[in-house]
Amino acid sequence: MEKQEWGFKENHVVHATAALTMRSILEALMANMDEIGTGKSMIHLGHGDPSAYPSFRTSTIVEDALVEATRSARFNCYAPGVGIATARSAIAEYLSRDLPYKLACNDVFLTVGADHAIEVLLTVLALPGANILFPRPNYPTYEAEARFSPLKVRHYDLLPEKGWEVDLAGVKALANDKTVAIVLINPGNPCGNVFTFKHLKKIAETARKLGILVIADEVYAHQVFGEKPFIPMGVFGDIAPVITLGTLSKRWIVPGWRLGWIAITDPIGILQQTGIAGSLTSCLTITADPPTVIQGAVPHIIENTPDSFFLNINKLLKEAADMVYKRLKEIPLVSCPYKPEGSMFAMVKLNPSDFDDIADDTDFCMKLAREESMILFPGDAFGLKNWVRVSFAADQKVLEDAIGRMKAFCLRHAKHY
Ligand SMILES: *Cc1c(COP(=O)(O)O)cnc(C)c1O
Repeated sequence: MEKQEWGFKENHVVHATAALTMRSILEALMANMDEIGTGKSMIHLGHGDPSAYPSFRTSTIVEDALVEATRSARFNCYAPGVGIATARSAIAEYLSRDLPYKLACNDVFLTVGADHAIEVLLTVLALPGANILFPRPNYPTYEAEARFSPLKVRHYDLLPEKGWEVDLAGVKALANDKTVAIVLINPGNPCGNVFTFKHLKKIAETARKLGILVIADEVYAHQVFGEKPFIPMGVFGDIAPVITLGTLSKRWIVPGWRLGWIAITDPIGILQQTGIAGSLTSCLTITADPPTVIQGAVPHIIENTPDSFFLNINKLLKEAADMVYKRLKEIPLVSCPYKPEGSMFAMVKLNPSDFDDIADDTDFCMKLAREESMILFPGDAFGLKNWVRVSFAADQKVLEDAIGRMKAFCLRHAKHY
């Protein structure tokens, strides 16, 4: 048969962008595992999804809210692009508890998880020639989404020696008259850090001087267990306009429900005046919506999840963070300079020259997966080479086993002088 020419082919831009995502990196690590060969069952400390552990199961109140929303037959319909009003109001009310001003229903926009919120924001802010400031290390979805956007990315550093605070001098040096926004993640992913009131205020003042918007990714809001309280960036919304991202995924431990939000935490109304709020509404008429039935369950979830559920999760995370931080010290060849105070992660530093045959963090994670059936996330994917991220959102027993495996692995690969 004659060779047929087709007018379509695979998309290399999509492949190259997918390679930046957590999903594809985790898949590559999983594919490198050999559970049969090692005789060890998998330990997955590569992501922030502890929903499979019984101790991290969501509250029955949350499960019941979804059942009731389904049974009511009121949420089988399409929803408005911005989300249904009852859910938006419930989230506005929830966020207002921690702010010196009140949010209204119209300040909240529902998204398909916070990842979709990132996509929507980058779409809305992408005017020709504009640039945006991202942290380094950063949550990889920002980097992947930016590849599809005309926005140019500039990275400021988080400083490990200062408890992963923002390098404010670096921010000032990076910004120019085309800079539209700075992204902050607090509590931090991947570093497990929590910013102080004073530091957040300085960031807001810097943003005001530069005339830029602050995008506060607060998907780990209230998941803090150290000395510092969680302070929402919206508290400083009168200094510079703030857009806050949130989600049910992490605090309620239902990442598969795909319900997130964008909130305009800007008491002066600059985002209304400049038309950003209107652009968000327009963008949301175009893109996907979270399922209406999940939206329908939101008011019940927000109003009725008992504090005891959150206190217990924070207690589990604190115990896990303390244990992991302490036990990591027993492992020669790695160090954890900062004790996590929030989110679900600790960053661990390696020095490849201390190892016999480990080229870098990615090689470390690949070999660890192969030899110990254990998944950690390579720092390179966050923009920080030769660090690895450990998720401690897991059962204590599993974490003990994991640290033991890491130690055996490090000793086996240590350089013998
Ligand atoms: C998990 C996470 C998200 C995405 O949350 P979803 O609601 O599950 O999409 C966004 N930002 C950070 C920093 C995260 O850790």
